[in-house]
Amino acid sequence: MNVYECLVCAEQSETRTCFACRNGIRGDLLGLPELYRALEDSRQRVRGGGSGGRSATRLHAPLPGREDVLNLLGPAARQPVTDGRDQTGAVPFLALLESWAEVVTEGLRLPPVRRHVTPLTARLTGHVAWIVEQDWVADFAEEIRELVRTVERMTAMPSKPTREFLTGVRCPTCDRDPMVRIVPSDWSAECRFCPSVRLDERDYRLLVEAQARDARDAVNP
Ligand SMILES: [Zn+2]
Ligand SMILES: [Zn+2]
Repeated sequence: MNVYECLVCAEQSETRTCFACRNGIRGDLLGLPELYRALEDSRQRVRGGGSGGRSATRLHAPLPGREDVLNLLGPAARQPVTDGRDQTGAVPFLALLESWAEVVTEGLRLPPVRRHVTPLTARLTGHVAWIVEQDWVADFAEEIRELVRTVERMTAMPSKPTREFLTGVRCPTCDRDPMVRIVPSDWSAECRFCPSVRLDERDYRLLVEAQARDARDAVNP
């Protein structure tokens, strides 16, 4: 019986890649199509906005991190490039799959597959037995694992919006209090009674200062 050091984890193994690592690779691959869909859903949230459609008129930058979603979905999904940031960050999802699928396709002289997440993944899952025999299996396992981890992190659903009461601050229009802030969202303070009242952080601070000043003046006229 041969004893190897597993190419991926370096534990002793009867095969070049141990049973556990082989299963890990297969598991990561099987989850890829679903992760890709989750990533596309995240893009929908970026485009459509997550706060009741109001973001269409909003001038604020997208939430931090959402740019990563677009980058990972690759050039076709990217918004117009305004700076050099598309050169950095994670390798786009399909490009990574495609390059590994190509290695398999060429190595085993198979017909090429379509550049789509399902056939690309199928090409890899269908030949795990061959992949785990190759010298580069550790690189393969690591890159796929990293892709899975990155997408899982990015597509974690944001927690449900909640209201935070800004006690002590009255609406400048109806004079009722307290105003509320919706979390998470771009920063804004809203009145529960006047739909038109939405203050950004700066205007909110000015309002707080003005009301504090009024309160002082009322005490010391
Ligand atoms: Zn192993
Ligand atoms: Zn109001």
